[in-house]
Amino acid sequence: MRIIEDMVCPFCGCLCDDVILTIENDMIIAADNCCTVGNAKFLGKKRLKSPIIKKDGVWEQTGYDEAIQYTVDTLLDADRPLMFGWSGTHGEAQCIGIHMNELIGGVIDSTTSVCHGPSILAIQEVGHPGCTLGQVKNRADLIIYWGCNPVEGHPRHMSRYTVYADGYFLQNSFKERKVIVVDVRETETAGIADEFVRVKPGGDFAVISALRAIIRGKGDIIPESVAGVSREQLVRVAELCKTCKFGALFFGLGLTMVKGKYKNISNAIELVDELNRHTKFTLTPMRGHWNVYGSNEVFTWMTGYPYAVDFCRGVAFYNPGETSAIDILARKECDACLVVASDPGAHFPRACVEHMKDIPTIVIDPFQTLTTTVADLQIPVAVTGIDAEGTAYRMDGIPLKVKKALDSNYPSDTEILSKMYEKMLEVQWQ
Ligand code: SF4
Repeated sequence: MRIIEDMVCPFCGCLCDDVILTIENDMIIAADNCCTVGNAKFLGKKRLKSPIIKKDGVWEQTGYDEAIQYTVDTLLDADRPLMFGWSGTHGEAQCIGIHMNELIGGVIDSTTSVCHGPSILAIQEVGHPGCTLGQVKNRADLIIYWGCNPVEGHPRHMSRYTVYADGYFLQNSFKERKVIVVDVRETETAGIADEFVRVKPGGDFAVISALRAIIRGKGDIIPESVAGVSREQLVRVAELCKTCKFGALFFGLGLTMVKGKYKNISNAIELVDELNRHTKFTLTPMRGHWNVYGSNEVFTWMTGYPYAVDFCRGVAFYNPGETSAIDILARKECDACLVVASDPGAHFPRACVEHMKDIPTIVIDPFQTLTTTVADLQIPVAVTGIDAEGTAYRMDGIPLKVKKALDSNYPSDTEILSKMYEKMLEVQWQ
């Protein structure tokens, strides 16, 4: 039996890097310090043993070489290939994905387009007053969770960085930090808040604007109630924000994927800007998929754009709403799809998934997912953080080196994609 410390959890954007793994007979038998979600990933046993291919509607096992060749042929034959996913894999594999996509003139998109794409659009418009989670842990005496529910979505966020995490300037965090939760329903996170602000669905933009007005000293123009929130509570919340020493606003899909979309986020950034005239205040998107932040970094430093990048003109082109995966699939535009380390079959609209079923769809993923059911080929790979290593970015933009705990026979995403890329180059040079 051996113990490995300081492992990085491969599940959500918190990238908890204090996991202790117990290994016996080349198997992980325990993952300490991990939440139940992370535990399920570390201890997951339902991995495919070898690539599987669908022939006449029946799955058959196939070899890695055949699977790689099938993928290369499919992508090279396609007029408008789509490569989607990338959030569950390491940055090195994402790099190769970009190179492949540029070579074949396809569209490459990550799960960003269905989660925090609007946050990026807002940040491009008005900037990002962000900071590291370490700064939040050590300094923030006011935490706001807006449209997110970390108790269920990021189970250790509060114990590692906010509510329960003692910091350098907060020796008794639970008593010294105030917590505000803003949501349309009373979530479990709302249950531990000092102030729960219940907003009517679609009313976030109005509430943010009201808070900005109050902080600007224009509270007298605020009506009795804004989107279901009383003026009295708005004034109380504004006062809490103005008088804290360091405030940190975290927000989730309850703000990005509702009415208002990126305008909600740019308004929230303006609110944080307003608050910085009185105190220190920061804003951080609660990135969900593990290395989704890394996909934005890698895409940006390689193409100039963070997601939904279209190479059909030979140069990178970016127009979310047109070049994002859902739009391409909904218009039935792509004629082949490669899904890497994500599960659009579980999250995309029905029409998009139906189109994936109608075209050749290839999945590179360690586990069978709902996308497998509409795919023609699945290639199992090593899991970064378990039997593959690489680089991943935490939700605050901090890159972490992710070690592996086991040696296995599974190739990593980088190995599989490199072989595909080499074969594509060979065809191009012929
Ligand atoms: S909070 Fe996220 S990164 Fe941390 S252990 Fe749980 S699933 Fe893993």
